[in-house]
Amino acid sequence: MVFIGMAPFADAKQNRIFHNALLNRDKRYDGLVFIGVKTTGIYCRTICPARKAKFENCNFYRSATEAELKGFRPCKRCRPDAIPHSPAWIGTQATVNRAMRLIDDGALDSGSVDDLADRLGVSSRHLRRLFEEHMGAAPHQVAQTKRLHRARNLLIETNLPIIDVALKAGFGSVRRFNHCFKDQYKMSPGLWRKDRRGVGWRAAEDLVEPRGIEPLTSTLRT
Ligand SMILES: [Zn+2]
Repeated sequence: MVFIGMAPFADAKQNRIFHNALLNRDKRYDGLVFIGVKTTGIYCRTICPARKAKFENCNFYRSATEAELKGFRPCKRCRPDAIPHSPAWIGTQATVNRAMRLIDDGALDSGSVDDLADRLGVSSRHLRRLFEEHMGAAPHQVAQTKRLHRARNLLIETNLPIIDVALKAGFGSVRRFNHCFKDQYKMSPGLWRKDRRGVGWRAAEDLVEPRGIEPLTSTLRT
């Protein structure tokens, strides 16, 4: 899109609305308007966390391309050049998808975010930023949620002792598991299991290990 010579979003009232969206970090305008700040030469998305420019210092554009054609550089904090569904964004989504598969396989149960980033060929800082952008959470938080979900399934579907649930779900220790579980669900894993099963739960000997759950030894990580 090229708008050279054309006043972008010339409607002053409309521009006030866009500026308010910037002040309020309004997601609804993300991707619809790009704000070029004349004093810095940088353009932003409405959701940018950086300090807000005054209305009189802002230009409003319909696309990242338009802002760049006017000589503005993309902000490093809100990355207007990589907004959802742009080619750059789709490229980074692929990296996040690969990371998610590795996390599924336990990459962050024993390894670090640095190791994971290495395997993906990106810096850990970049990986953290991509997760923030695509998942709204840090890699270790995503891994933690996955461990808790695995643990919940094991608590409901098997009769394994808590320590085995902890290790199979990918927690390094039962202590760590108890801590994380209580933090998230406000009760101990044992109590939660009882609560979920309620009255009439089958006796332990009736339980059959569900498919897809391997013997404990194979999932123990050193
Ligand atoms: Zn910005």
